[in-house]
Amino acid sequence: MKAKDSRDAINRVSTMQIIEDYKRYVVSTYNRIPVVMVKGQGCRVWDLDGREYLDLVAGVAVNSLGHAHPCVIDALNRQSIELIHTSNLYYTIPQLELAKRISDTSFGGKAFFANSGAEANEAAIKLARRFGNASGGRYEIITMTNSFHGRTMATLSATGQEKIQNGFDPLVPGFRHVEFNNLSAVEEAINENTCAVLVEPIQGEGGVNIPADDYLQGLRRLCDKHRLLLMLDEVQTGIARCGLMFAYQHYNIVPDIMTLAKGLGGGLPIGATVVTFEMADMLPPGSHASTFGATPLVCSAAIAVIDYILEQNICGHVKQMGEYFITRLQELSKKYPAVIQGVRGKGLMIGMALKINGAGIVNECLANGLLINCTAGDVLRFLPPLIITREEIDMAVEILDRIIESFANSGLLNSDSHVCGNT
Ligand SMILES: *Cc1c(COP(=O)(O)O)cnc(C)c1O
Repeated sequence: MKAKDSRDAINRVSTMQIIEDYKRYVVSTYNRIPVVMVKGQGCRVWDLDGREYLDLVAGVAVNSLGHAHPCVIDALNRQSIELIHTSNLYYTIPQLELAKRISDTSFGGKAFFANSGAEANEAAIKLARRFGNASGGRYEIITMTNSFHGRTMATLSATGQEKIQNGFDPLVPGFRHVEFNNLSAVEEAINENTCAVLVEPIQGEGGVNIPADDYLQGLRRLCDKHRLLLMLDEVQTGIARCGLMFAYQHYNIVPDIMTLAKGLGGGLPIGATVVTFEMADMLPPGSHASTFGATPLVCSAAIAVIDYILEQNICGHVKQMGEYFITRLQELSKKYPAVIQGVRGKGLMIGMALKINGAGIVNECLANGLLINCTAGDVLRFLPPLIITREEIDMAVEILDRIIESFANSGLLNSDSHVCGNT
């Protein structure tokens, strides 16, 4: 079939038919929203029926420069002609260039590359085990309740949410969960077997939970005192999402290990485990690997993303837009106290806690051309492309205002009939 014919064939298929066929051919692990996305540009996406949406989900913080950004397209076009993949049996230049940029913009360490957030955390966990084994046979890693670290066996065992662990027993041993944002809980959990602490600087899936200003510093002190690795999961918070290149930079500390993924590739799959110089020796040749890790193609996109962020001062833009967006949402919060609990966020990672289940509002937003997501059941989460404009924020707030008003005025306040989709 020629390219044009296959496009025509796709266009003839209906949304209903595609959803039906998914049931037959794709494992139903997701609670999907019933639209078929076919095109994106900037902060907009279009579905198969031609409806336009303002996208404040951005592929769950992945499309950091929005959809179809020219610098990403250009990098992919240029690199795909040269070399797409060779495996890590050989050296490639884009991988080195990307590692340099991550090192230079963070704490000067080295990177191990994989393809996702879970894999980045998996490498961090493996490194912590080797570090612990080499220093007195320690193996236990402290993680937090309501955390999210991924869906592989080790990372779901690290995750502090039962709903993600249900049915997968036996879990990987060696994780101890304590309350987030509670330093004494960590202190009490430390024993002779502890080798590391793994924590998100701001919890994403758990409901956009921001810790006290001194929490990460406190963790750093505890880790130093007990010779533990401080491992920050920046899979969601990293790459300018929170207004600085990495969220830890807000807190005046440096981790031993930091994991990255979502926003790093501008839409392409990549994960990175960034480790200090000393700790890098814990993963010698043969100890870990990934066939796809950091292919030239994917790295070319990530390099383009980082260069654009630095050259265009996207961190400054994110800070400004984040403050503006939060202020506008706080106005809504004052206006609809019966529906909204409060607004919290850093940069363009923003949560609006509700007094009702959020699924109804998410569905109404969808029907009105606005994509948002709900996490932890009752927190509307906004993770727009980092290039979002003031006008686009105004448009989103206007839609939200209308919808929340209708919820406030109707008997819908206690409706728990919808279940939130989970990423
Ligand atoms: C999304 C996420 C992960 C998992 O990333 P995947 O690419 O889905 O494996 C891990 N940690 C955090 C903080 C995340 O937000």
